[in-house]
Amino acid sequence: MDLSGLNITIIGAGIGGLAVALALRARGAEVRILEQAEAIREVGAGIQISPNGLRVLQALDLGEGFRRISVRGRAVSLRNLRGGEVLRMDLAGLPEDHSYRFVHRADFVELLAARARAVGVRVRLLQNVRDVTPGASPRITLCNGDATCADLVIGADGLHSVLRPVLNGAAQPFFTGQVAWRAVVPNKVSHPAEARVHMGPGRHMVSYPLRGGDMVNLVAVQERSDWAAEGWSHRDDAANLRAAFAGFGGVVPGLLSGVENPGLWGLFRHPVARHWHGDHVALLGDAAHPTLPFLAQGANMALEDAWVLADALAGARDMAEGLATYQQRRRARVVKVIDAASGNAWKYHLRNPLVRGVAHLGLGVVGRLAPG
Ligand code: FAD
Repeated sequence: MDLSGLNITIIGAGIGGLAVALALRARGAEVRILEQAEAIREVGAGIQISPNGLRVLQALDLGEGFRRISVRGRAVSLRNLRGGEVLRMDLAGLPEDHSYRFVHRADFVELLAARARAVGVRVRLLQNVRDVTPGASPRITLCNGDATCADLVIGADGLHSVLRPVLNGAAQPFFTGQVAWRAVVPNKVSHPAEARVHMGPGRHMVSYPLRGGDMVNLVAVQERSDWAAEGWSHRDDAANLRAAFAGFGGVVPGLLSGVENPGLWGLFRHPVARHWHGDHVALLGDAAHPTLPFLAQGANMALEDAWVLADALAGARDMAEGLATYQQRRRARVVKVIDAASGNAWKYHLRNPLVRGVAHLGLGVVGRLAPG
């Protein structure tokens, strides 16, 4: 299918929306993004991009720029309560163009947005979409009552997508019994260029360096019986985080001493959407398949979606065939990855340290996910 001149509207300027905009624009489509926020920005936190995500960035001609803003990960190590290493996956031997990397989200989104604008993607801010009606020329209605149409509408609008329920009905997420704190701290502990998972009974913390190693990103997860609402914008007292991880050794106390005003949110599980497409509409990224953060693959999956959607459309006879091929190529893989992420939660939190060590021998995170 010739995409040149096709009018495509993407809802959401997150990692998924910006990446698919670039992939479609490269094939000649006229692309517009509607973003509800007043500026394209991500709040201060890090993200891990594995070789599969990096491959997509390279295909979008962003490999060099991305390597400049990210830290190359040399290993992923699992550690016990005292800070001792339980398991180490050495990543230093991976070739540069298959490397595992850590990046500040703000830097990453800025890179994608700058390139999108440079190649002629129209990014419209303060456009809060209320509804989408699928059809030959799907209709998008904004919260202010304005309406517009396109040849194809892509819902890359994240966890609370407006398009997902149109195609799938209301989802029933459930609380996993875990909450997570998120913070970025100065690197006062000389944290090496590796992702560390610090495991303890009923809790774990992930740390890795950002911005040339000057900062460290922390995500700390604790089991808890109740939580009020889904979302990640709650603020908590840093003392609660320090108390939850009080018994941990190694670099953990030094890292936690630098935390101020961390974010805290409840972790919910969502089913992967059954229908990723309808009449001239498609879902992508978290809108189709929100995941728990225990395998660091949500954004990587959104990047893969972006490439495959553009590729499937370009290779199809018509849009219906292209959208069906997109879901067919993506859904089984995404389900597998999300199940693996959910499985990691209980492995990290096992109460018997011996069993915890054995459970992790089968992880093989990077090896299993790196394509080719
Ligand atoms: P989003 O990033 O949610 O973007 C959606 C965009 O749509 C936003 O800009 C939003 O403002 C906009 N929008 C929403 N509704 C509307 C509307 N109605 N109208 C207009 N615009 C709208 N993934 C990894 O790969 N590696 C990691 O290391 C990693 N770590 C994580 C750590 C944590 C703590 C968490 C919570 C997640 C992590 N993830 C990670 C997952 C990753 O952040 C997400 O999967 C990814 O950001 C999803 O991107 P997206 O573009 O699909 O959605």
